[in-house]
Amino acid sequence: MAGNITFTMIKPDAVAQGYIGPILTKFNEGGYTVRAMKYTRLSRKQAEAFYAIHKERPFFEGLVDFMSSGPIVACILEKENAVENFREFIGATDPAKAPEGSIRKLYGSSIQQNAVHGSDCDENAVIESNFFFSQFERF
Ligand code: GDP
Repeated sequence: MAGNITFTMIKPDAVAQGYIGPILTKFNEGGYTVRAMKYTRLSRKQAEAFYAIHKERPFFEGLVDFMSSGPIVACILEKENAVENFREFIGATDPAKAPEGSIRKLYGSSIQQNAVHGSDCDENAVIESNFFFSQFERF
């Protein structure tokens, strides 16, 4: 059975452009409930650890530079079938291929600077949530 939480980050590009508010509004409009939220910044080391799965990819160094370049907002979101629903909701990795009105289409500017992260499976939603939040920070 699909789980009901996913993990997201509002990435440094979207935070720097003042899109925290509009993106949180989108989460609400999409029926997602915020269960934990944190404004923070990843060190290079933390960004490397978070994206370790992409270590061998040609875009890894650029991704780590970008994700540690400024503050982010980390959130745990709740909704039925959250992981799959949220990935569809935010749109494709490349904002140019994301549907009109989706978060990545509205607020992303490139395949790297695509405004938000979304977990790719239930297992990673838990791992990524634990990366940022202790159990006492969840409601
Ligand atoms: P996601 O699940 O849609 O976020 O995509 P992935 O897990 O495949 O990639 C993680 C993140 O790496 C993406 O959200 C992008 O920020 C970045 N990324 C993915 N593919 C590319 C690429 O081909 N080029 C660059 N520069 N960045 C990429």
